[in-house]
Amino acid sequence: MRRIICLLLVFIARLANAGDWAVHQVGGRDYLDMDNIADFYGLKEVKRTEKELTVSSGVRSLRATMNSAEFYINNLKFILSYPAVEHGGKICISRMDLVKLIEPVMRPSKIKNAQPIDTVVLDAGHGGHDNGAMSQWGGEKTFALDTVQRARALLQAAGYKVVLTRSDDTFIPLDDRVRIANKYRRAIFVSVHFNAGGYGTGVETYTLAPRGVPSMMADGPSISDFVECAGHAHDAENIALATATHAALVVKTRMFDRGLKRARFVVIRDLTIPGVLIEGGFQSNPYDAKFIATPIYRQTLAQAIFSAVENYKRAVGNQPKEERVAAPEPPKIAPPKPAPIEPPSSQ
Ligand SMILES: [Zn+2]
Repeated sequence: MRRIICLLLVFIARLANAGDWAVHQVGGRDYLDMDNIADFYGLKEVKRTEKELTVSSGVRSLRATMNSAEFYINNLKFILSYPAVEHGGKICISRMDLVKLIEPVMRPSKIKNAQPIDTVVLDAGHGGHDNGAMSQWGGEKTFALDTVQRARALLQAAGYKVVLTRSDDTFIPLDDRVRIANKYRRAIFVSVHFNAGGYGTGVETYTLAPRGVPSMMADGPSISDFVECAGHAHDAENIALATATHAALVVKTRMFDRGLKRARFVVIRDLTIPGVLIEGGFQSNPYDAKFIATPIYRQTLAQAIFSAVENYKRAVGNQPKEERVAAPEPPKIAPPKPAPIEPPSSQ
């Protein structure tokens, strides 16, 4: 007990040293202003326009836009769970986004319990009777398999153990893909897909939405957002892996950056290792589809996956973790209560 109190005192003292956090309530949610956040991360250069605020120091930067969910960390686009708001003349970010997104991205080496990795599980989407999205040049299942085979070659050459959830044109149910991945420790999971949907263009990266964070695939928070699942044990590693992946994807492919997003796809939801799902362009858009159909583009995607793994490994590091001194603890989130049922009238 005494040990717990000591640790608590150290934690409070460190927080106080790091600067006082002023929490603002907006619409029943906790927010922190960007000045406070910039202070904490030592980002001293400030550029402000009416709608936009950039704080930076060297190559590190944060950029927020008023009433927008688009948020840039080190020039990479992220989609906030809740849009930035104005409060008392300052641009504010939700505490949830600070704790679950900005902190692990800005300081991945401080992620508690992040495991060093030596194994990569590569998951080619679809297969067998399930073609995935089609273009005139072929099916998503074929291009995804070719991409992971190329990535496997690069990773194996660098000494990684590589596991494929499918290595031929076979249909593997989503649960089985997860079961295969969950057999490994010191491992990460990368699922490869190509998008469909009108003339959409560009690349995007998904990772599991933490508990209480709405999925980008839904219109707003729902009760299912509060269900605990296996993947939540790795919220911080997930976002660090997704950051490494998305950065590599955007830089290598030079495709339009659709941002790093959160979802609850089965293959990332039930993982017991960190995982990410990439959408490497749109099969439904001839501009993207033409690229996807070329071996050169798929080799580029494979190189992006390889860089992502290397960068993630470097970011979380292999050294023992020091005690985390970070942003405020995540808010305690109670699931929304169902509406009370009125007792029948006695009359
Ligand atoms: Zn797909």
